[in-house]
Amino acid sequence: QSGPTETDAIVIGAGPVGLFQVFELGLLEIKAHVIDSLPVVGGQCVELYPDKPIYDIPAVPVCTGQELTNNLLKQIEPFGPTFHLNQEVTLVERREDGRFNLETSAGNRFITKTIFIAAGVGSFQPRTIKVDGIDQFDGSQLFYRVKDPVPFHAKNLVICGGGDSALDWALNFAGKAESVVLLHRREDFRAAPASVAKMKEMCENYEMQLLIGQVTGFESRDNQLSEIKVTGLDGVTRRLPLDMLLVFFGLSPKLGPIAEWGLDIERKQLKVVNTEKFETNVPGIFAVGDINTYPGKKKLILSGFHEAALAAFGAAPYIFPDKKIHMQYTTTSPKLHKILGVE
Ligand code: FAD
Repeated sequence: QSGPTETDAIVIGAGPVGLFQVFELGLLEIKAHVIDSLPVVGGQCVELYPDKPIYDIPAVPVCTGQELTNNLLKQIEPFGPTFHLNQEVTLVERREDGRFNLETSAGNRFITKTIFIAAGVGSFQPRTIKVDGIDQFDGSQLFYRVKDPVPFHAKNLVICGGGDSALDWALNFAGKAESVVLLHRREDFRAAPASVAKMKEMCENYEMQLLIGQVTGFESRDNQLSEIKVTGLDGVTRRLPLDMLLVFFGLSPKLGPIAEWGLDIERKQLKVVNTEKFETNVPGIFAVGDINTYPGKKKLILSGFHEAALAAFGAAPYIFPDKKIHMQYTTTSPKLHKILGVE
């Protein structure tokens, strides 16, 4: 195993504010690694409203959550940030030399001079199924995501949920699995209408089955989940044998490990010491975007962008203790043109 990566800055969270933080750090010649628990960048904009229009980004009369993210990615291209996706930052601790050790759930380790927490409402985690005792099968027969589809082939699958993930996987596994039952608590689906139509067509052709109801219990045999109990809208509970249970109830944000890093927290938000630098009570750790709180805070993307600019200036002395940092205009500064690669 290779040693930890040494860096000047780590941005936790690849939402709009984390992405713009990379830009502001880049202008000050500070390179950043960006970590996000989701497999894609964009934070809430991409996870919660990729196709919805945003109207209050300065000088952008309208753009969708996905378009904003694409533009931010383009804007930070000159700075070549390294992204580490699909992994949560689990550990942050101060080292004796004043820097920080940082670790992710994927086992990546870093030593960094500064940290920018742009973690929004927390890291998005799959909503779990609430049936007493069923979590003992988590990872063996109960799954909230599919990393490798092959182990599910030739198995009797029950897939719970009514959104795109549930429908996409049900359609994907139909024909490959031994059997596929899609289980949803009501007749309405949140998934794309085309997927719903395709699912209904496959049900009519007996390629899969749709059940309306909720999992209310289970039976096990030899420590294996052998069947689930499904209570239908009629109040009748039926038994359903299965090999694997896949649950796609969407994602919900959790503050998670951030609460354990010795930072001042107020109502699940990180308090910043002042609004000059947006630094937390731990020197060298800054909090920007929806995750922070201070008098007058508004959870808007534009506020987060401003915070990111000041946090970058606030952090520069940790990285360049002997350098005087001047603010320069991107329009006219030859130095910034060089940094941006637009000479
Ligand atoms: P987020 O977008 O929440 O991103 C944080 C990222 O950090 C997430 O991707 C998360 O996975 C990651 N993360 C958290 N913890 C960890 C960890 N421990 N390790 C690794 N990664 C972690 N704002 C506007 O200004 N205008 C609007 O019109 C507008 N419309 C909205 C509409 C809806 C439906 C919603 C829900 C919000 C809207 N907002 C709008 C609010 C806006 O989306 C947020 O202010 C913005 O997304 C905050 O950005 P952020 O980068 O701070 O955090």
